[in-house]
Amino acid sequence: MTQDFDVDLFVIGGGSGGVRAARIAAGYGARVQLAEEYRVGGTCVIRGCVPKKLMVYAGRFRDEFEDAAGFGWTVAEPRFDWRVLKARRDAEVGRLEGIYGTNLGKAGVAIVPERAVIEDAHTVRLVTSGRRVRAKVILVAVGAHPVKLPEVPGCELAITSNEVFDLETMPERILVVGGGYIAVEFAGVFAALGARTTLAHRGDRLLRGFDDEIRDALDEAYAKRMDLRLGTSVERLERVAGGLAVTLSDGTTLEVDQVLYATGRRPKVEGLGLDAVGITLDGAGAIPVDAFSQTRVPSIYAVGDVTNRAALTPIAIREGHAFADTVFGDRSWAVDHDLIPTAVFSTPEIGVVGHNESTARERYGKIDVYRSSFRPMKATLSGRDEKVLMKVIVDCASDRVVGVHILGHDAGEIIQAVGIAVTMGATKADFDRTIAVHPTAGEELVTMRTPVVTKRPEGVG
Ligand code: FAD
Repeated sequence: MTQDFDVDLFVIGGGSGGVRAARIAAGYGARVQLAEEYRVGGTCVIRGCVPKKLMVYAGRFRDEFEDAAGFGWTVAEPRFDWRVLKARRDAEVGRLEGIYGTNLGKAGVAIVPERAVIEDAHTVRLVTSGRRVRAKVILVAVGAHPVKLPEVPGCELAITSNEVFDLETMPERILVVGGGYIAVEFAGVFAALGARTTLAHRGDRLLRGFDDEIRDALDEAYAKRMDLRLGTSVERLERVAGGLAVTLSDGTTLEVDQVLYATGRRPKVEGLGLDAVGITLDGAGAIPVDAFSQTRVPSIYAVGDVTNRAALTPIAIREGHAFADTVFGDRSWAVDHDLIPTAVFSTPEIGVVGHNESTARERYGKIDVYRSSFRPMKATLSGRDEKVLMKVIVDCASDRVVGVHILGHDAGEIIQAVGIAVTMGATKADFDRTIAVHPTAGEELVTMRTPVVTKRPEGVG
């Protein structure tokens, strides 16, 4: 490529999207540098999906110990040691960080361990060293960061998902604030690990945007596992002798050891120099891009959470890959954001692909809804009072399955496999002719015969 530039590609941010883009572009022979101001691996590896899932696993042993009795086991009173989990989890995160760095090196990407900002359409300035790098193409992959909304007096006393992984001791009493998947997951983890957990959410149900029946079922399950306060917000936080005193909008006060705010994330664009190149942010504070991740400045692209298309690791990875193929590999393709399988690692777990009942109705008009709610086989002997809920939503005109929703054990694993079929355009008839795997929970997905609801919008016959 052109000799005027120091590099063909400069990537700002070594997280899911940036790392993938850098490696693929380097594989096409591009000269690539990647700046990371914190730790290579980004949110997912360092303080997101990976350490969180390890904590989810830790918490789930509680149910296993309890359930074992119904199968004849006598288990001594289990004890949990936070410090052991933290040390082992941190070591694993460190190992993965090393692998990310090694893989970038092997691909020929030069890692620049400092903050980078944009100076003009082709220049990046490295903040610590003051060095400037001229790049043919700049990729912004800076991700997002947690915000403590709404601002309440004493809010600075709360931690976010960034700090939660640094806690040296387990809080015995914790208030989690928020109703999105991060709040839901952490509240589930702390409750399972034995902390007295309150989850306060100002909305009337958890997990806005998910299928309403799945939300109801999760609310019900969570109310049994923790102190769930819906329609409740925090009015004030104060430090007191025993910890933190929290005044809630329901008129009660709580005393806790930690307050974890998980009330939202915003693109990490402060001071990045976007103004200098005339990139204006959208209403969510994200960088607007076209289907190929190109901003309004032709030499600057953006992928991942900073574009707020779907804030998930596999999406950031795929956007980074598509960008590198398109710009450096002469293989142009765009990510389809329409059908995204995803999971919430609550306990019970949630797995979703496609539309929920209300968005399916809006989009397709006449839909059939198949629902199965049942006690999982394991619960018959364990005695656990929890149900599995599965929903399959079908567009009547085409018979295509346009949504599958699962709440129950291993829902994330199940939905990944179902996601293949739904992405391929499977019809309800395809589901029906699939032989059941017996006895499993998943077999319900191929044995639901009668729709519980046939939905028509007003005036449609
Ligand atoms: P990031 O991974 O955030 O990477 C951006 C990187 O850029 C960071 O390392 C940052 O330090 C660096 N950076 C920022 N500014 C600069 C700068 N100016 N110069 C140099 N470096 C800079 N997704 C899932 O799919 N499944 C999950 O289970 C899941 N769980 C999550 C749990 C939590 C608690 C959180 C917070 C997120 C979770 N996510 C999950 C979301 C997922 O982590 C993100 O969608 C994903 O990491 C986005 O990748 P990215 O490349 O856009 O940004």
